[in-house]
Parts: sequence; C-alpha cells; structure tokens
Amino acid sequence: TGIEELLLSRIRDVADYPAPGVLFKDITPLLADPAAFTALTDALAGIAQSSGATKVVGLEARGFILGAPVAVRAGLGFIPVRKAGKLPGATLGQAYDLEYGSAEIEVHAEDLSADDRVLVVDDVLATGGTAEASLQLIRRAGAEVAGLAVLMELGFLGGRARLEPTLAGAPLEAL
Ligand code: 5GP
Repeated sequence: TGIEELLLSRIRDVADYPAPGVLFKDITPLLADPAAFTALTDALAGIAQSSGATKVVGLEARGFILGAPVAVRAGLGFIPVRKAGKLPGATLGQAYDLEYGSAEIEVHAEDLSADDRVLVVDDVLATGGTAEASLQLIRRAGAEVAGLAVLMELGFLGGRARLEPTLAGAPLEAL
C-alpha cells in the first residue's frame, strides 16, 4: 500500500551500528519528513482508537517520539515507560535479559489502574524483550493490554512468536 512504501522509503539502514554485524533501522529520516511522520501518527492513532485503548504507553526513547503524538491525536493519555532510575515518583519495575546482561524498565505506579486498557507503542520490534517486559509491567500495574503497535517488525528475530503468550490474544500491529 502507499503508506507502507512511504514509511519504508524514510527508514535508513545503517550497517554495523551499534555493533559490528548489526543492520540498524534508523527512523530519523521519517521523523524529519512531515508527510511521513503525520501518516505514521494517523495510522497508529487509528489502531489506538480501534483497540479501545484508554492510555498509550511509549517505550523509551523512540517510543516517546512516536507515542506522544499518537496519544494526542487519539485523545488519550500518554504514559512513559522509562529505563530504571529516571522516574521521580513511586514506580513498578520489570527486569529483562539482554544478549549480554540485563536491563530494567519502570512506570509510575499511579499512572495505570484496573480501569485502563493500554496500547504500547514503539518504533522497532526486534527480539521482543523490551515489549515483553512492558506488557508484564502493565499487567502487574493492574491494567489490561489493548495491544502492541510498532512501526517496524524485524521478523527474522522472532519477536512475534516470543510475545504470543504474553500478548494472550491482544493484537500486535506492525505497519
Ligand atoms: P528488542 O527488545 O525487541 O530486542 O529491541 C527493541 C528495542 O530496541 C526497541 O525499543 C527499539 O527502539 C530498539 N531497537 C532494536 N533494534 C533497532 C533498530 O534496528 N532500529 C531502531 N530504531 N531501534 C531498534
């Protein structure tokens, strides 16, 4: 479709970043193009609305750039899920494994409640580790998962299969 071609044309492949052998998908050309950024925002906002979400969660850091305008466009609140140690209030944390070592993400505990249905937004789904931890965090906060929406899915890394049990039927949309 037209939008897929537009979005793909604005994603730049960067070889050997952040490590040798990795082909990084750089979304900054898309952000710099107002037609592409608007089309992406509108598409994700449509997913947010049809998912019945009450809140949009964005994953640090590119999920903030994409998720915030989606929340505004969809008329929903925006909740940042941050790397550990960045949020000032009382937090819930979720650790997850990286290729080497581990990482932890956090959310303000008071930002989510049992009344919420949450759409998680991020730029790229790779192994699914980050998204999996965010979905676990949302459930532990008592909220329901409305779905996960990303600009791009790197299918060869198997993130979709990994997330299947955690999504538990909630949709994974990759534009
Ligand atoms: P995962 O946890 O799925 O392995 O990695 C996904 C996270 O790492 C996302 O938050 C995403 O922003 C980042 N990421 C991994 N690979 C890429 C990439 O090629 N391009 C971009 N823009 N982000 C990536």
